[in-house]
Amino acid sequence: MYYVYRNWRCYILFMRKKTKVVHRKLGREKADGLAYKGFAEIHIDERLSGKNYLLTAIHELLHIHRPELTEEEVVELSESLCDDLWELKIRRIDQ
Ligand SMILES: [Zn+2]
Repeated sequence: MYYVYRNWRCYILFMRKKTKVVHRKLGREKADGLAYKGFAEIHIDERLSGKNYLLTAIHELLHIHRPELTEEEVVELSESLCDDLWELKIRRIDQ
């Protein structure tokens, strides 16, 4: 997907990589999810399900898509988005 950013000085065209999602056990990291901002890659603990999975996915994706947000802003935004999406019955389907 191509994005064009425009400011007063120039246009910048670049290709945003599709975010890679890795599911694995995150025991040692003591986290439900991790975001590698520079690599557009997130890791989600494979044991998560239901609303915890949705919340973690949104949280880590926000770190990738909005790297300028603070951890507190990501927590607040991910929780409210998760509540709204859960209310709309957005669920993960196992492939
Ligand atoms: Zn975070």
